[in-house]
Amino acid sequence: MLKFYFGPMDCGKSTLALQMNYNHGRQGRRGLVLTKHDRSGGPKVTSRIGLGLDAIEVVDSLDLVRLVTSHDRIDYLICDEACFYTVAQIEQLADLVDEHGVDVYAFGLASDFRSVMFPAAQRLFELADEVCRLQVEVLCWCGRPGQLNARVVGGAMARTGEQVVIGDTDASPVRYQVLCRRHHRSGRLGEGSFSDAVGDAVGSDQAV
Ligand SMILES: [Zn+2]
Repeated sequence: MLKFYFGPMDCGKSTLALQMNYNHGRQGRRGLVLTKHDRSGGPKVTSRIGLGLDAIEVVDSLDLVRLVTSHDRIDYLICDEACFYTVAQIEQLADLVDEHGVDVYAFGLASDFRSVMFPAAQRLFELADEVCRLQVEVLCWCGRPGQLNARVVGGAMARTGEQVVIGDTDASPVRYQVLCRRHHRSGRLGEGSFSDAVGDAVGSDQAV
């Protein structure tokens, strides 16, 4: 079974990934936890509520079928940040399900800061047995459900640029903000964001 859980930042994807790994482990099943570009900056799955677990970093050249078959017995994979994997790696996940009897639980964003789908996420939508939208109380500043990630550079919403830019770190001028569709389309970031833009870098709750 190939399952894809998607949602915006902060919707609890990594927390659910870690919970799922724990549940499967308790049943005596053996799995691997994979991630890419986790917010911790290392090969770890971390969640904003403070849980963490060592994980395998998925670099572009990693063959996931070979990774799994080099192990003794793997029952399942937890694939965090799967939106950043290559399309070929998503195909490998489907191979693992079909040819090797591995259950794959993939977690990630569906779309980038422009609201355009990541290629890997698109392939997951096409191939997954089940797709599940996560909506764990992430709200836009206006109170509507947060659906889309905006990239904010210098206090303004970016509409163009590289698809993957790591933000929300001390060193980066880029941050991400979850917005409802209406405000993603209009580019309005809300009241609190303006003060961020004029230099209130310290104490910003976005600087996670
Ligand atoms: Zn809104």
